[in-house]
Amino acid sequence: MIKRKVVLVGTGFVGMSFAYSLFNQGGVNELVLIDVLKEKAEGEALDLSHGLAYSPNNMEVRYGDYNECKDADIVVITAGIAQKPGQTRLELVETNSKIAKNITKNIMKSGFCGIIVVATNPVDIITYVVQKTSKLDPSRVIGTGTMLDTARLRYMLGEELDVNPVDIDAIVIGEHGDSSFVPWEYCNIGCKNILDIAKQKNKTIGDLEVIRDEVKNAAYEIIEKKKATYYGVGMALTKLVKAILDDEKTILTVSTYLNGKYNEEDVYVGIPAIITGSGVRELLELDLNEEDQKKLDNSCNLLKETIEKIAV
Ligand code: NAD
Repeated sequence: MIKRKVVLVGTGFVGMSFAYSLFNQGGVNELVLIDVLKEKAEGEALDLSHGLAYSPNNMEVRYGDYNECKDADIVVITAGIAQKPGQTRLELVETNSKIAKNITKNIMKSGFCGIIVVATNPVDIITYVVQKTSKLDPSRVIGTGTMLDTARLRYMLGEELDVNPVDIDAIVIGEHGDSSFVPWEYCNIGCKNILDIAKQKNKTIGDLEVIRDEVKNAAYEIIEKKKATYYGVGMALTKLVKAILDDEKTILTVSTYLNGKYNEEDVYVGIPAIITGSGVRELLELDLNEEDQKKLDNSCNLLKETIEKIAV
């Protein structure tokens, strides 16, 4: 296997769920852990290394500093504070944008020229901050966007219809937050549009929107019950990182830069995009109906208003 190196900044719940998932799926031979709490990163590296005898490929896992980013293929940022019960993602913005700026400067000082993947919330804004600070091409700075929301939607539709989520081609787009939405016209189960399936079952779009509300509220419910959410996003990060490393040309609802497409300017938001070894190759520009375009405009306006309040 050619050398593939990933650096993870932030070894909390989300970071380590990603690291554990990547470790189990394989495909990387160097994983470096960085955290402001050096001992935590060191402990996590040791703990993970002890599973090597049972992992699919040999991998060097160690803790380190930002010099490690110099020859990394991908740096994943999961550092920052997380939502507390009742808090929205947008409320984390001031603290996490300062942390993200600082981390990005350190990454770039190393001479890094790979791809940065961001999961820290509010993910669309933090990805924007990382891109502006790094000055990397926007195609090389990617947020997890609505990947987790999309996975939750596919799971919940799967439960409702008793179908494997893998066969559910449905997406959530917009802000990774309360203004996200489902463009139902573009959601299919197998080859059949979900609106046709709903009609046959005497269900309305209102019934589908109930599922969308459950997706939207999933994080609040989990945080209320167990303080944080991390396995789902850990899997989403693994999917995105492997899509880049394997040049998969796969379509994922990542947070990506819009500058003209969807009539939106200078904003990162969750949209389906083709992911390759060079990052985002192309956005899929869906022909949204008027109502859905308004929902996307609303998400983007909300994100832009929040960006204006912080110094980027
Ligand atoms: P956590 O508190 O468990 O971990 C955060 C880690 O970041 C800690 O280990 C902390 O020491 C480290 N850190 C803080 N400041 C740092 C700095 N300046 N440099 C390096 N490391 C630093 O939190 P968590 O549950 O892992 O959540 C992390 C982030 O992921 C939060 O912003 C959370 O909202 C977000 N999140 C995103 C999604 C998504 O879908 N994008 C889903 C869940 C959580």
